[in-house]
Parts: sequence; structure tokens; C-alpha cells
Amino acid sequence: MTVDALRGILKKYWGYDDFRPLQAEAMRAVVEGRDSVVVLPTGGGKSLCFQAPALQLPGLGVVVSPLISLMKDQVDALADCGVPAACVNSTLSHEERRRVADEVRSGRLKLLYLSPERLMTERTMAFLQSSPLSFFAIDEAHCISEWGHDFRPEYRMLKTLKQVFPETAIHAYTATATPRVRGDIARELGLADPDMLVGSFDRPNLIYRVQRRSDLLRQIREVVDRHPNDSGLIYCIRRKDVEEVAGALAAGGYDALPYHAGMSDHDRKRHQEAFINDRAKIIVATVAFGMGIDKSNVRYVIHAAAPKSLEAYQQETGRAGRDGLDAECWLFHTDNDFNIWRRLQSELPPQAFEVAMTVLRGMQDFTSALSCRHQAISRYFGQNLGRADCGACDVCLSEVDLVADALVISQKILSCVVRLKEGFGGEYTAQVLAGSREQRILDNGHDKLSTWGLLSHEDKKSIRDWIEQLVGQGYLANQPFRRGEKSYTTLAVTPEGRRVLKGEVTPRLAKPAKTRKEAKVATASWEGVDRGLFEALRVWRKAKSEERGIPPFVVFGDATLRELARYRPSGIESLQSIHGIGQKKSADYGADVVAVIESYCRENSIEMNIAAPPGEGTEQRERNMAAAIPKSSVSRSLAFEMFAQGKSLEEVREATGRAESTVGDYLAAFIEQEGICDPGTWVEEEVFERIRQAAEQTGVERLKPIFEALEGTIDYGRIRVAIACMKNAAPEAAQPG
Ligand code: ADP
Ligand code: ZN
Repeated sequence: MTVDALRGILKKYWGYDDFRPLQAEAMRAVVEGRDSVVVLPTGGGKSLCFQAPALQLPGLGVVVSPLISLMKDQVDALADCGVPAACVNSTLSHEERRRVADEVRSGRLKLLYLSPERLMTERTMAFLQSSPLSFFAIDEAHCISEWGHDFRPEYRMLKTLKQVFPETAIHAYTATATPRVRGDIARELGLADPDMLVGSFDRPNLIYRVQRRSDLLRQIREVVDRHPNDSGLIYCIRRKDVEEVAGALAAGGYDALPYHAGMSDHDRKRHQEAFINDRAKIIVATVAFGMGIDKSNVRYVIHAAAPKSLEAYQQETGRAGRDGLDAECWLFHTDNDFNIWRRLQSELPPQAFEVAMTVLRGMQDFTSALSCRHQAISRYFGQNLGRADCGACDVCLSEVDLVADALVISQKILSCVVRLKEGFGGEYTAQVLAGSREQRILDNGHDKLSTWGLLSHEDKKSIRDWIEQLVGQGYLANQPFRRGEKSYTTLAVTPEGRRVLKGEVTPRLAKPAKTRKEAKVATASWEGVDRGLFEALRVWRKAKSEERGIPPFVVFGDATLRELARYRPSGIESLQSIHGIGQKKSADYGADVVAVIESYCRENSIEMNIAAPPGEGTEQRERNMAAAIPKSSVSRSLAFEMFAQGKSLEEVREATGRAESTVGDYLAAFIEQEGICDPGTWVEEEVFERIRQAAEQTGVERLKPIFEALEGTIDYGRIRVAIACMKNAAPEAAQPG
């Protein structure tokens, strides 16, 4: 009964047909007034767990949320679905606050969002004691636990809530999965035997891929170029990396903005809003970005370096695909990332440092394990995927090239570790296997070992990778080791590794990554979608969002636009059968949407009112897809291709029809991306030398002084190209990690 009524509410207000996992159970706890702790991954649909029941209950639901920006977005989104909700925070005028209070008293308001500080003021508490309450919902409830990754002292004040309101149920929501945090939440809030609802941490619509970082900008570009109109996030470790990547992308004509804690509040806010409102497609950020961003249509998340823990990785990748549609998650890592994290966290108190190093190791193992990525993440959170092949990671999609003779190679590596008496690290072991005659190896007499040079026919970098892969799969272990002041790690063979030596198990080893491997892109959720119409609807959505002052994804999610572009309904009546369109949205936007669909279909002679996804018409779809890619990105790709063939600036300018300065921009971006140090094709040797000499006097930061030092005899285009090459040749400028 309750559940049917809730399903009706879901459909009427949100246009959703059914519950996500655990939503029904979580909603019942709210309707029936039992305390609950609900743990669902980011995007799992926690908000609806209390929002839908609030509509069924007679009183007011009070929602505690840590971020003002988040509150406002949620309230806007609720209003757009026709749910009476409000927030009270310092940005409201006196008048506005009075109006909210009136609405609470009249019983019209269903949801009230507050920060913990505001809720716990005497005035608010007194006011709420005289109001009919349905429940308290505590969002981001892990903030109450010191073991959570985001402890907030102000959450501790919530302890007294249960004492003041013993009759009102409290519901806590979080995406942090560890049992310790869960226990803390229930205890700190004084919950009475709460329903513990812990969802699956797997996000099946995320496609995980993990690759060694080789040519970062190219690797990023390959992902971004597949999503010319989509929103994406790129995470870096440090501010300087953010600036570099964002700068390089912007210089290459991409719509990318930086975001990190070193920027002013004003700039951060501006960039975040540009992203939320689809004015900027890409945000390049440190971990500072993301908390409270519930933009649903982020189609990819790229980690330009490994994050510091799998918790962080799960949180950050979790910001992709919150609408349930496929999204790509790429992780580009090198060993140096882990060194950086060790350094950055070296100031932590000893115990915290220990914890940090343990979780960092977990992350490193994830990058080298070569087993199903979905399974690895689930296992880390103490869950089992229950499927052998996820169909949504590079390993299960067979994109990782495995070496055929992994057993023999592994045995050679493991026996070398044994011969070295487990007293040396990965780098040294790799040198011995490669047959190096480095002095320290000769000094130690290790060139006499039977395992010396056993893998001399292999690339040294591959040997190093394989060692990491064996660590990641638990056949080797890194052991801490101190000599005087310095601490090292040495490799040791684990019991599981002994079984490899006996030939009882075979590890998986990957071939060195080919940089230009075509990645598969999932297409299922585009099945039957007319891309041109999708774009037309997107343009309409953007205009509508600007007109109403709300983010585009609040108007309609991508899933809704795809369904519209797939089934192309011609009447308002049929709109409510579309995912994400409830009564209010149909009334507000229906006429507009139908008009967009009709005119697009008429102009392009496309059928409307499709009953089932068409199996044919691929040609049409591809044509539309090409049309949807903006001109700038087409000419940029063309330019890059021509530069790669050694074509001159003039030739490229002719072929692309772009301005000389734009083509110069492309070339500089190309040079940077490819790490080219020798401008041979574009700048004559003697000219390059003159520029280099001038730059030695003036520095490379600004071009004008160089131009002037050369007395205007060399054009800016050549100077730009030469400087880009010089920067590539300087190691500190070229190393992004
Ligand atoms: P969380 O707070 O758990 O990170 P949200 O509550 O923001 O997740 O929900 C993520 C997205 O999923 C939102 O766009 C939301 O409207 C959508 N959503 C939630 N429940 C459902 C459902 N039952 N069916 C379809 N979409 C849903
Ligand atoms: Zn998998």
C-alpha cells in the first residue's frame, strides 16, 4: 500500500517509473517513522528517499545539509518538480525568512533545508518545537564521524537533536561505506535501533579504465574528443597541475576552466556555476571540487593522476553518470603519483600517516591488479559483485593486452627476488633482471646471480610494471625497511607468490600500453536516439535554463532528452510516458518540447512517435552525429593530423580555413601534446638558434620581449613554436605529475 502510493508520487512529481535499489525500503522507514541509516553510493538516489515520503506525510521534513550551494540547487530542483520546499540560510533577507516561517505554520511547506549551525540555534529549535514535524533527514551524515573523510565539528551539535525531539524520527544518509563510520553515525545521533540500509557500491553504468600515463594531454584529448558536447571533470593532484592542464586545454581550443583551493572564492564560484549551467564543458580540478555538485549529466571523469585512496577515487568517479546513463572513468597514473602523495602527507601525525599510507597502497594495488575494476572496488568496500565479467571495465572488455607467457615471466621475477634475499626494492630488482652493469650491482656482485639478465630481451620499463602488477595481485609485497635516517621498501615473496613459483597459479601481466588503442565506447544508451534532435533539445534546454535561472540538468536530465530524441512524441499527452517527465514538467515545458521535436523532424524528414527503438537508420544517425560536432573541434583534429604528417602552417591554414593565429594556437598545442623538442618542420634551424639565444636573455614566459630582442625580424608564429619546443625540452616543465 505505502509502496504503491510512493510509486505514484515518484511518477507524478519526478516522472520516474520505479525505485532504485533500497529506495523503497528507505522510504518506508521514513513513512513509518523508524530511524534509519541509509548508505548508498553517490548517485544512488539518496535525496528521493526522504523527498518522496515528505509529500505523503502531514508535517514538515527538516533536512540538514552542510553546503549552502547544495541546498539552493536541491530546493530549485524540487520547485521545478512541484514540490514545496525552501531553505533558510544567511543569504535570505528578513522578509524572505518570514515568508518561509509563514509557509511552515500554514503546513504548506513539505521540506525545509538548514545547515547544522542554523538548526541548532535556540530560535530555530524553539520554532520547530511549535511546528508539526515529519522527520529529520541528515544529509552527508558521515561528517559527524572523525573516521569519515570529511569530519565537520558543527555536525557534532546534532547530538542533542534526539533529546529535544524524542518523538521525531531521524534519518541519516551517506555515501561513505565503512562499518566504522556507519556505527559512529548511529551512535552520535542517538538513533533508536535504526534500519541499516547499505546499498551496493558498484556503479554498473560507469566504465572504468586504468592506464599508465605516457602522454597525458593526448590521453586526455582522446577521451574529451569523444564527448565534444558533454560535461566532464578532470582531477589532478596539485594546483600547479590543474593550472597546466586547464591552460593547455584552453590553449588548444577546449572549453576548460580550472578549480582549486588557491583561487579566490569569487573565481571558484564563477567556474563552478559555469560548469553546472553547461557554459563550461570541462572543469580541471583538485579534490577541492565536487562536494555538493549534483549535476547529473557528467559524462566522463578523468584522473590525470592517481588519487590518494580508493575512497577518493570512488567519490570522484561517482560524480559521473548520476543520471544512470553510461559514463567513462579514466585513470592515468605513474609511480611518481604515489611518491607525490607520500610527500604531501608526510607532515601528518604518525598514526594518521600510517592510515594514509595503507589506503594509498590500496590505490596503488588497484592500478596494477589487472583484475575486473568493478570487482576490485566492490571488494575494497567489503562487498562482492557476484559476477565474473562486469562488461564495463578495460579488463573485462579485453582492452588490456595480456602477455601470453605470464607464468614464466612471473617465475623469473619472483626467483630474482628470492635470490636477492628479499633485501632490495622494485627498481633494483628490475635492473638486475634487465642485466644492468650499473656500479652498485657490480659492487654487490649481483651480476653473478643466475637471475641476472634473465629478462634482458624485455624493456626495462615493462619489467618494472610487471613487478608492480605482481604486487597489486598480492604475489609480491612491499616491506618497509629502515637504514639510518632513510626508509626504503624491499620486495618479498608472499605465500601466494610461492604458489606461482611452484606453477600452481598464473598471474596476469599486461603488455606495455599502446598509446593509441581505440577504446570501445558503450553505445546502448544511444540506441535509436537521433543525435541531431538531441542537440536541438539541448540547445532549447540551455535557453530555458537561462530564462528560468536554474541549471540545465534541473530542467531535464540527459536521460530524458535521449528518450525524447528516441521516441519523438508529437503530443503533450504522450510526454508523461517519457522518463523524467512528471505532471508539472509536462505542463511547464511540454508545449515547447513538442514544438522543438516537430520542427526538427519536419526539417529533417524524420519519423515521429516511434514505438520501439529502430534497428535501422544508422546512416541517418551517423550523419547527425557528425553534424553535432562543432566546427572548431573538427578543424582542430584535422590540423593535428596534418601537423603529424609534417604539413606546414600555410597548408594547414588553407585546409582548415581558420585564421593564422588560430592555426598557430593549434600548432603550439600539438607540439605541447606530442612533447616535440625539435621544431624542424616549422622553424628553420638557424632561426630556432636565434630565438633560443634571445630567449636566454629574456626568459620564455612572454613572447613580446623575444620578438623585440630580435628586432621584429622573426614573426610571432615561429617564436611561439620555438618556445613550445624549448619548454618540452626542459624536463621540469614537461613533467606534469
Ligand atoms: P545521491 O544523493 O545519492 O548522490 P541523488 O539523490 O542526487 O543521488 O540522485 C541522483 C540522480 O538520480 C538524480 O538526478 C535523481 O533525480 C535520480 N534518481 C533518483 N531516484 C531515481 C529513480 N528511482 N529513478 C530514476 N532516477 C532517479
Ligand atoms: Zn570488469
